[in-house]
Amino acid sequence: MRITEATFLKSSVNPNDCPAPDKPEYAFIGRSNVGKSSLLNMLCERKKLAKISGTPGKTRLINHFLINQSWYMVDLPGYGYAKLSKTERDKFEKIIQNYLKERTNLANLFVLVDSRHAPMKADLEFMQKLGLKNIPFSIVFTKTDKLKPVQLEHNDLGYRQKLLEEWEELPPLFYTSATNRQGRENLLQYIESVNKRLL
Ligand code: GDP
Repeated sequence: MRITEATFLKSSVNPNDCPAPDKPEYAFIGRSNVGKSSLLNMLCERKKLAKISGTPGKTRLINHFLINQSWYMVDLPGYGYAKLSKTERDKFEKIIQNYLKERTNLANLFVLVDSRHAPMKADLEFMQKLGLKNIPFSIVFTKTDKLKPVQLEHNDLGYRQKLLEEWEELPPLFYTSATNRQGRENLLQYIESVNKRLL
């Protein structure tokens, strides 16, 4: 898929404030600093579409982008901010839970994890919750350029094994780098194939 148009639409706190659910929607979520803004910019070939923030916790709202006039890309607030107060973390968690529960046009949630790290408890627990709620999701490994191929292979295998302790089947897995654009085609092709099924 070629992205010819990518427009920021709005930031919302509640699902009710989001744009009408009239197009397939693909949301991206992950711990702060995982590389979410960089990935969204890389996918859209824009430098500053999603603000790249060095400050954990800055992306706090549900941000909608309209892509090629036909689908929504959504930048969700990150989870697991160690630096936030419990009250603030609970608030974000609530925003995310409401969004996931009520957004009827959500076609897929991309859960971003840093390819350098072993599976993290918060990520695995989050995915378990998605499974229980039947929310379709995929895993996107970020920053693959920071690893040698053999290290990436090792981490990938470890992650798969960990997932298979809980899951019978693996979700789709993507390997991406905002630096060298690895994974861009695969991810966009996947979105296109789901769009074809839905539109
Ligand atoms: P966010 O908080 O998840 O939106 O993360 P950002 O996109 O702001 O990225 C966090 C940091 O990781 C920034 O310093 C980025 O330059 C860096 N980063 C993000 N993606 C990549 C990547 O694919 N490769 C490398 N080497 N660095 C990356």
